Amino acid sequence: MIGRIHSFQSMGTVDGPGVRSVVFLQGCPLRCPYCHNPDTWDKNGGTEAEAWEIFETVQRYKPYFGENGGITVSGGEPLLQPEFVTELFTLCKADGISTALDTSGIRLDASVKELLTVTDIVLLDIKFPDTERYQKYIGIPLKSVQKFLEYLQRQNKRVIVRQVITPTVNDAPQDIAALGTFCAQYPCIEKIELLPFLKLCAEKYETIGIPFPFGKYEAADAKKVEALAKYL
Ligand code: SF4
Repeated sequence: MIGRIHSFQSMGTVDGPGVRSVVFLQGCPLRCPYCHNPDTWDKNGGTEAEAWEIFETVQRYKPYFGENGGITVSGGEPLLQPEFVTELFTLCKADGISTALDTSGIRLDASVKELLTVTDIVLLDIKFPDTERYQKYIGIPLKSVQKFLEYLQRQNKRVIVRQVITPTVNDAPQDIAALGTFCAQYPCIEKIELLPFLKLCAEKYETIGIPFPFGKYEAADAKKVEALAKYL
């Protein structure tokens, strides 16, 4: 099965537990205003590769994965290419490599459910835990993510929630409390990570020639985000 790949990071330490090879896939239907990777949006961009080719590349780094590491497939949105990721993860699992899926959880059909059978950990970008802001900023109902989470809960999947914190948008204590209350409904969530909003991607927007909607906000202060994580 051929997939569309944006890029490959041999050994990352911020996309799931431990040291992980990270495969960034091409294509995303969303347009989050804080997106760091607008160059992944075009589903016809990137380069093509077979699942076994990616597997063989990942295999080279296996000695560095240790007990907790493995492969993470990120994006873009990996749920746009579920069959490709299923084949890749199946190969990895047969070789004892832990699999993590970094997703927005916006799609749940038979092919995604199949993919989840070979996924060990889901890294879920919650974006906004309330219906109003999810619809306003992401343009779709929060309900699709809730359905995805309910399914993960029923399957007893390991879930790590990731939330980008943007100054004045969602960095008030009540925002963090609302995130905590939302996540508490799903005991499968084992951890919540707060990620500071960064503006390193501003150049990418310029190059592509599209506006950076959250470009008007300051980058988040790492210390403040750390304090919010403690509060959470
Ligand atoms: S889901 Fe991820 S890749 Fe897609 S627009 Fe949002 S932040 Fe960007």
